This record gives sequence, C-alpha cells and structure tokens, in this order.
Amino acid sequence: MMYWSFLIPLQTGVFTGNCTTPATGLCVFWRVARSLPMRQSRLVFFCLLHDTPRDMTEEDQAFLRDLARLAAGIIERDGTQVRLEEDVDALREGERRMTLAIAGSGTGIWDRDIKAGEIYYSAGWKAILGYTDTEISNRIEDSYTRIHPDDLDYVRAAIRAHFEQQTASYEVEHRIRCKDGHYKWISSRGRVVSRDADGTPLRMIGTTTDVSAIRGLSERLQQTVDLLTNLTNEVPGLVFQYQRTPRGESFFSYASAGIQDMYELTPEQVVADDSAVNRLVHPDDLPGYLMSFDVSAESLAPWHFEYRVWLPRQGLRWRQGDARPVRLSDGSTLWHGFITDITERKRIEAELQEFATVDFLTQLPNRRHFMMQIEAELTKVQRALVRRSAVLMCDLDHFKLINDQWGHSVGDQALRHFAAILRDQLNAWDLAGRVGGEEFAVVLSGKDIGQAAAFAQLLQQRITGTPLLVGGQHIPLTVSVGVSVIMASDASADAALSRGDQALYRAKKNGRNRIECYEVV
Ligand code: GH3
Ligand code: MG
Ligand code: MG
Repeated sequence: MMYWSFLIPLQTGVFTGNCTTPATGLCVFWRVARSLPMRQSRLVFFCLLHDTPRDMTEEDQAFLRDLARLAAGIIERDGTQVRLEEDVDALREGERRMTLAIAGSGTGIWDRDIKAGEIYYSAGWKAILGYTDTEISNRIEDSYTRIHPDDLDYVRAAIRAHFEQQTASYEVEHRIRCKDGHYKWISSRGRVVSRDADGTPLRMIGTTTDVSAIRGLSERLQQTVDLLTNLTNEVPGLVFQYQRTPRGESFFSYASAGIQDMYELTPEQVVADDSAVNRLVHPDDLPGYLMSFDVSAESLAPWHFEYRVWLPRQGLRWRQGDARPVRLSDGSTLWHGFITDITERKRIEAELQEFATVDFLTQLPNRRHFMMQIEAELTKVQRALVRRSAVLMCDLDHFKLINDQWGHSVGDQALRHFAAILRDQLNAWDLAGRVGGEEFAVVLSGKDIGQAAAFAQLLQQRITGTPLLVGGQHIPLTVSVGVSVIMASDASADAALSRGDQALYRAKKNGRNRIECYEVV
C-alpha cells in the first residue's frame, strides 16, 4: 500500500468522502474537520491511496493535476459565496443599525413622488406627529396643511429653490401640527434624487427630526440671556466683566449699555483693550486707579475705587468702581462688577465737609477746623519741619457798638469785610479762622514774632484805609491784635492761643487798635 497526501486550504463547506479513479486505481479520500467554525480558513486533507508502492506515472500526475484544478475551482467558488454572504450580512446589520438609530433619534423618513403628488412617510415620521401607521394621508397637498401658517411661506420658498436647483439640498426648520393639534418644531432635510431630462424633479427623499426639545432649550437659553442683558442694561451704571492676563493684556470682556453713560464709549471700544477707559481717567487719579487693580489681582481682595473721569460731553465726573476678582486657570484675573456715578454724592460730601469746616458768614475755617490745622502746625514745629510759627489773635474793637448803631446785618457785613481783608493778606501756607463772634486767629508759618507784628500792623492799616461803606456812609473798624509764637514745648496748640489771648487782653486794656506781643523768655 502506498499513499501521497496533501493539504488544501478551503473556505467553506464540510467535506467528507472518497472516490477511486478507474484509470489509475488511485483512491482519493478527503475529510474536513466538522469542529472548525464556518467562514474560517480550514485545511482539507487529501490522501491518494494505491495498493502497491510505485512511482507516479504520467497518468497519476495528470490525475493529480485534474484534482488540483478541481480543488482550485472549489476554493474559488467557495470564496465568492462566502464574500457574498458576508456582504449581505453586513448590509442587513447596517440596515438594522440604521433603523435603530433612526427610531432612537426621533427621526422620520419621507419619500416624495413629485409627479404623482404623493409622499410616503415612515412609521417613525408618523410617530413624531403622534399618528399611527394608517392614520395619515399620503397626498402632498395635505402635508402643507400641517405646516404652521407663519412658516408656510419660507418652507415653500425653500422647496421651490431646491426644485429649481438653486440649493444643493432642501433644509428647513419649521413648526408642524401634531395629531393632538399642538405644534412641534421639526428639522426637515432632503434632496431631489431624480429628475427628468429637462431637470424637472421627479423624486425627493429626506428626513424629519423632532427638534422641539432643543428648540425649547435654546429659546429658554435665549430668554435667560435676554433677561440678563436687559437687567444689566437697565441697572444705572456700568455692569462689567474685566480681565487681566499674565501677558499684561487688560480688557472688558463684557460691558453693559451703561458704558455709554459712564465713559461715553461703546462695549466694542473696550472689548479688545481698556486703554480707551484709561485715557478718560483723571491724570491725578490714574496711578491710583491702575494700582488698585494690581492690589486686587495680587490679593484677590474685592476691588473698590473712587476716581474722576474727564468725559467729552459730561466733563469732570466722579465714578465709583466695585468688583470681585477670581483667578482663572491660565493665571488671568477676572473681575465681575459695576461702575456707578457718584458725582452728586461727592458734591454733597464736599458740601458737608464745607459745612463742617467753614464758617458760613466769613467763609474762613471755623473754630473746630482751625484748631485741627493749628494742632497740625504744632506737630510740624515739634518735628522741626518748620523753624517757627507765629500766632495772632485779632478782636474787632467795640463791635457791639456797630451792631447797636447800624444793625446786626451791617455787623455781619463788617465781619465779612474784615475776613476778606485778612484773607487777602495771607500766603497760601498761612492759616486763619473765625474762632469767636468777632474774633479771628491767624498762624503765620515760618514767621517769628517781629514778622508777625509787622503783619498785624499792615492789617490794621488796610482796615483803616478801607472802611466799610454802607448806604454811602463810612463805618470805621479797628482791630486789636495779640501776637505770640508756637513753641515746640507746647502740650497743645491751646497754649500758644492762650499766650496770644493774653497779649490781646493787654492790647484792649492799653487802649485798643493796638498790637501787643507775648515775648517768650
Ligand atoms: P471789645 O472792643 O472789648 O472787644 O468790645 P466788643 O463790643 O467788640 O466786644 P463784646 O464781646 O462786648 O461784644 C462782641 C459783640 O459781637 C457781641 C455780639 O453781639 C457781636 N457778635 C458776635 N457774633 C456776631 C455775628 O455773627 N454777627 C453780628 N452782627 N454780631 C456778632
Ligand atoms: Mg470779642
Ligand atoms: Mg471785640
């Protein structure tokens, strides 16, 4: 017994069997293992058997060639069949996935026969509108009755444009009436898939997607944005988002409409950089304004700053800024805050400050304010910031008589007249105040007692030389002056004023319209 064996890779089929060639007496036996799964390459084992051992004859070889051709044919047919089956399976799988995906995405399919005026809707399409498979007509004119009347024109226009080949595809969002009567937003997309020789559309296929939810979401989002914009625009002042990057860029990433009032600018002018705002800040306040942002960015402390701006239309105005900073992941600092107009508040504050510090009648500092200023002068003397300072106590002579003779209002005029002459004689760094009814105090910074006496003398001369004129009559005024100096050893400014008072008392006692000095030994 002899045999030749060989293996053939085979794609499909389960073979088992045998045959004997009459010419050669060769017996072919073949078998394929059943255990191998379908569609995997497999080996087929062939055995050529013969009852007596011998070399291969020409016939044997021809037989083997036939056998090989047969095997090759089987392999080829087998492979083609497998590929076909695989393709069909892949198509079925793709279709199954597509159907599931379409059903899951709330999308329906339509197929329009334009010539027949009919339209086929998929079950999914009908489900979007709440219809069952048999409830809806397939006449195209019925489909238009379901479109919201406000949307009908642009839907028709979009279809027409596509029919006339002005658009590559038909794509439109519109409202459509459901079975229960309410309207839904849908997105419809399609394309003409066949035309006749003249280009007249014959068939159009497309999809419809329910976009009510996303449309509702975007409408609610838009409403929120509108609300926020309206709120920020209606709030008096400027609501802003301001950013500074580690690269040194600074800009207003958001500015409400109030920027027009606050800076006479538009949001667009500050969105790239803030230099337009910086140019408006009063030069005296700009360093502090910029520094206040540095400090806030560094410490992440709330930003607060009051500053003046020069605006082309409004002129000089006061602004107050408040904002809270946060650090961003790239190292930038982002502030959210607002700018308000505090010009009126500043005016009232200044007025109150004046009320609190200035004597209404004479416009000189009142006693309280003068005392604060003279205390500050004493500190300067004690710290040797000034070498010396003289104090003058001035009291109008026989003032009671003026009131009695001319009336209280002429007395008031006399007080204003004296204050004006005194103010006129002061240097910018000198101090003066109304410290009593017809009593005034003066501090001459840097002056000694002799210089102060000379000042007093000049004052007396001016008062005598410029009498008050009332109703064409001259009202003579004289003043008595006590002069002293502020001493570094003084516990308080009262001590220096008290020495001045003592000298004044002597001036009164010695006949009035006089100057007396308190000489410190
Ligand atoms: P002497 O030369 O000793 O200082 O006499 P005098 O009259 O100036 O001093 P006296 O203290 O007796 O009187 C001060 C007067 O000043 C009394 C008061 O009615 C008047 N007087 C105080 N304040 C005002 C004021 O605001 N307006 C007017 N018109 N008179 C005032
Ligand atoms: Mg007096
Ligand atoms: Mg007096």
